[in-house]
Amino acid sequence: MLIDAHCDLLYQLWQHSYDINQSKQLQFDLTKWRNSPVRIQAFAIFVPDDVPEYKQYDVALKMVELFYEKIITPNPDIVQIKTKKDIEDLENHQRGAILTLEGCHPIGRDLNKLKQLLDYGVRIVGLTWNNNNAIADSIDHPHGKGLSSFGYEVIDLLNDEQIWTDVSHLSIKGFYDVISTAHGVMASHSNAFSVCPHRRNLDDQQIAALIKREGWIGVTFVPYFTKPNEPVQINDVMKHIDYFLECGARDHLGFGSDFDGISTTIQNLETVENYVNIIEALDKRYDKSTVKQITGANFIRKFPRLKE
Ligand SMILES: [Zn+2]
Repeated sequence: MLIDAHCDLLYQLWQHSYDINQSKQLQFDLTKWRNSPVRIQAFAIFVPDDVPEYKQYDVALKMVELFYEKIITPNPDIVQIKTKKDIEDLENHQRGAILTLEGCHPIGRDLNKLKQLLDYGVRIVGLTWNNNNAIADSIDHPHGKGLSSFGYEVIDLLNDEQIWTDVSHLSIKGFYDVISTAHGVMASHSNAFSVCPHRRNLDDQQIAALIKREGWIGVTFVPYFTKPNEPVQINDVMKHIDYFLECGARDHLGFGSDFDGISTTIQNLETVENYVNIIEALDKRYDKSTVKQITGANFIRKFPRLKE
């Protein structure tokens, strides 16, 4: 079962009046999804940081509305995934959709706003995007601060509610604060710094820390996180997977494409339909059981939310 932990379709639908069923402008639409091997897709609520602070939470709720109105309600073959059991119960003809949050800035300093988003089904919470917020600083700010006291309250809530804490975009200091407090840690869309030295990627120490804490890492298709210069090809994605495997991440690895969050793409990996090319490359390179772990089994095993 192929699972993808990050895309920005909701953001695109909020920005533009694209047809979710089929649009040339979208890297991920429902037709492309159904033509792809992806069985479960995470959909991020992502509020751009140029939205005025007082409007940010309303925009987040608007994206929740889009998730239900455009993805869940009209499509009987798409079911919302809220628990590990929902994943296990997914039937062959069905696809699963997980609601996630990329950056906690829309909640400001109000834990109730986060609680409401969890009630709507958010199951992966990225603490920051590239902007700093009340919880922590982002990786875009050198010497960025770690978790604030409010940030620790957020982690307590996520732990109580069995929600995955997502460290992609988070400052180094914040990363290690999360490593020492969060029960379920993951990096939804980050590659390996040793293969491509971009600040958004995970360095060796972070990879080791995630493995030690039983975390999960989603290899991403952002071209400039994959290779510093064009052209970027599927083989370059495989180099990150090779490297993560060398680091011992076989039981911690998966995918978080970032489709519709990227304006440039990797060759032959322009849309979600092209995931077949990734599967083909994986099958050529690794044994069956490793492919099974990377494509979905690791994600399912680690998915923290057990309670209904
Ligand atoms: Zn992102």
